[in-house]
Amino acid sequence: MKETIVLYPAPSFAHLVSMVELGKLILQHQPHLSILILVPSMPSDHSTSASSSYISDLSLTGIPMSFIYLPSLQVSVFDSVAMNALNVLDALKTLSSSFTILALVTSAPHENLKTHIPTFCYFTSCASALAFFLYLPTLHNQTNKSFKDLTETPLNFSGLPNFLSASSAPEPVLSREGPSYHFFLSFASSLLKSKGIIVNTFNFLEPRAVEPMKNGVCAPNDQTPPIFCIGPLITSARDHAISSSSSEDETSNCIAWLDKQANRSVVFLCFGSKGVFSEAQIKEIAIGLEKSNHRFLWVVKSPLGLDTEPKLEELLPDGFLKRTKEKGLVVKSWAPQNAILRHESVGGFVTHCGWNSVLEAVSYGVPMVAWPLYAEQNLNSVIMVKEMKVAIPIISEEAARDGSKLGLVVAEEVERRVKELMEFEEGKILRQRSLEMKARAIAAWSSGGSSSTAFHDLVSSWKHG
Ligand code: UDP
Repeated sequence: MKETIVLYPAPSFAHLVSMVELGKLILQHQPHLSILILVPSMPSDHSTSASSSYISDLSLTGIPMSFIYLPSLQVSVFDSVAMNALNVLDALKTLSSSFTILALVTSAPHENLKTHIPTFCYFTSCASALAFFLYLPTLHNQTNKSFKDLTETPLNFSGLPNFLSASSAPEPVLSREGPSYHFFLSFASSLLKSKGIIVNTFNFLEPRAVEPMKNGVCAPNDQTPPIFCIGPLITSARDHAISSSSSEDETSNCIAWLDKQANRSVVFLCFGSKGVFSEAQIKEIAIGLEKSNHRFLWVVKSPLGLDTEPKLEELLPDGFLKRTKEKGLVVKSWAPQNAILRHESVGGFVTHCGWNSVLEAVSYGVPMVAWPLYAEQNLNSVIMVKEMKVAIPIISEEAARDGSKLGLVVAEEVERRVKELMEFEEGKILRQRSLEMKARAIAAWSSGGSSSTAFHDLVSSWKHG
């Protein structure tokens, strides 16, 4: 029977894409293995259509990966992970009669997912966020308060810098009440029970988090499984271009427009698969961009929701599109981000700090403005600014006043940060640092580099586990 690795991502487009990259990496180094991907039904936002076009496009490339769809579920992401655990067990049972399954790799571990097949977790965000989750059970026992109410309390443990306050914790665990907090508490314990944790980062990018985690310091009351930092794993620009998440027309429009711009002259603004702004915020961004006088490529989503096409003429200030015609390109809903970041005309990236986006920018040496919106992005943004030093933060008046979450960011702040990034000394320093990280990312994957060694160790553990 053929030796196989089964991959099972959480129900999110970004997890699916990252998991497919892991599958490609395995096939590249171990072509004798087969890869089966168990695809959960996605939440009914842009992820559903983006994921199905992504998979059908991938199938056309002839990549030898098989996709098996789990039953459709119309429930919340958290319920879906719990319910799917049982569907995954059924699928594994069926597959075991035709394949020798060496390992299950999942970004949706769950206590219900109990199997004798060695189970590895794939953590698709940064090592610093992983350090936080490993330490979460300990933090939980140290206080009865919600992290959101601990604005003055540092997250004081080895693995994270002590200037991070508890209120910068990932959004789903900010409040102790509610299902997402308990979901992640149990997620932490599933991580610790796995045979190993694969992380999409590389040692040089996050030394403060990686070393203590590997030494077990972040989970003082448990045995930490081996940690494999095998990043950066990003989708190749070619695959993004073929994905009809961005149609061929959009891709060629964006690239043709970038081809006409000077080197490093364009600031790119894109806020992930779910970054939706209010109409008021879209107007402030537009005014700030126009005042900055810099060239821009900006992806605008409709404030009405991810499946609605934005009405640009209504959303943007009067005459904006006409006035900025020579300087900017506004793209509706979705753009081929990877191909754009890779283009030499792009000089800076305003990002929501989703980890795939950060790794893409780091891999192409593009400095960033960090504008966190949801999930663990607040934590990512602090790490990007203060530890990795590849970004400057955007700050709203509310956040400046009391350290609370970003509220409305005014046009002047957008203008100031774009100028800092694109023309001031801060931007030049950031660019140097980003280029250094790009070189370090390449080195991590060169022969004997930290990520290629970790990957080799991971594969050996499958063979000898
Ligand atoms: N993406 C894209 N075009 C868009 C928005 C997002 O290609 O207009 C891609 C982006 O390149 C990244 C992924 O979608 O690979 C988003 O993942 P990330 O972890 O950055 O953010 P999330 O969407 O999970 O918040």
